[in-house]
Amino acid sequence: MSNEVWIIADLKIDGSIRQVTFEALSEARSKIAGKLGGQLCGVLIGSGVSGHAAELGKYGAEKVYVVDNELLKNFSTEGYTTALSELIKKHSPAVVIAGNTVFGQDYFPAVAARVGAGVTMDAIEIDLTDDKKLKIKRFSHSSKAIPTQVFLDHHPMMTTVRPNSFKAAEDPKTPEVVDGAVTINPGDIKSRVVEIKTKESDRPELTEAERVVSGGRGLGSEENFKFIYQLADMLGAAAGATRAAVDAGYCPYDMQVGQTGKAVSPNLYIAIAISGSVQHFAGMGSSKVIVAINKDPEAPIFQKCDYGIVGDLFDVLPPFTEKVRALVSQS
Ligand SMILES: Cc1cc2nc3c(=O)[nH]c(=O)nc-3n(C[C@H](O)[C@H](O)[C@H](O)COP(=O)(O)OP(=O)(O)OC[C@H]3O[C@@H](n4cnc5c(N)ncnc54)[C@H](O)[C@@H]3O)c2cc1C
Repeated sequence: MSNEVWIIADLKIDGSIRQVTFEALSEARSKIAGKLGGQLCGVLIGSGVSGHAAELGKYGAEKVYVVDNELLKNFSTEGYTTALSELIKKHSPAVVIAGNTVFGQDYFPAVAARVGAGVTMDAIEIDLTDDKKLKIKRFSHSSKAIPTQVFLDHHPMMTTVRPNSFKAAEDPKTPEVVDGAVTINPGDIKSRVVEIKTKESDRPELTEAERVVSGGRGLGSEENFKFIYQLADMLGAAAGATRAAVDAGYCPYDMQVGQTGKAVSPNLYIAIAISGSVQHFAGMGSSKVIVAINKDPEAPIFQKCDYGIVGDLFDVLPPFTEKVRALVSQS
């Protein structure tokens, strides 16, 4: 086994690298690679991806493995699982980390199973024990508890990390680029991408946003969700929603935050007309600052927020939005 610490680059559909990759590189550099005495490495998996090596170097990657294969042009569970597990078998890293994105959640456990590794998901803290075992913290029980998990003797030690949990800090290096070619047979990939439809939006992606404004069933209609979008756009925030609002048809499913929606971890989460169910909290409980607006003073959200305004959203939001507009224009 080597002492290398690998961060798997998470690529967006447009080919750019997700911020969580840089956050993971930065945190692993200070918390893991230094203590382990191993090299911090990036891993690029895809087709025509080698050009990204320098970006990983900007955040401290000393070496970058590139698995470049036409069969990996579009994400597939089988393709990525084969690529990463074969690369791990060949080079035996000590620690392997990926973002807890839809992709990481999809193929990372499969890779761990294939290489016989230990795996944890959705870490919000990563560290090493004195005897150099990976130690992570993660939310559990709808964000009511934060257990610490320590790895035993299985290698590599693998974890996904929650976006927005760490700061991305530059530490420029010129990485050695290693050809990580592995054998992938066309027959290994059981599904074929026939079309990709992307949604145009000027708002940041929900899972990566530093600010999120979310609306609940109390908004009452799709039309009233304009209040959410207005405030979100003013703050440069993403727009989210509860399942009840989605089920009522007020907004699309891709805005749903929670246990059966997306997990977000912004610096600021504004919850408007949201009661604060455990299932919703499961997706936003790690937000740094939570602001709630609700007309019911007994709403559970008030037990969990940092700042709460008791009032009807239609009375509170216009002056609130105006105040935000004034503050934003001053800054
Ligand atoms: C298996 C399972 C999975 C689930 N997954 C999710 C999930 O991923 N995400 C999720 O969000 N939920 C999820 N749910 C649903 C969850 O249990 C709640 O039903 C849901 O979160 C409630 O959404 P809400 O707060 O918008 O609605 P409600 O609970 O109906 O709350 C609406 C709130 O709006 C307030 N309000 C109404 N009018 C106004 C007004 N004019 N001004 C100010 N406040 C007002 C009310 O006081 C109330 O507190 C799941 C449930 C199950 C069983």
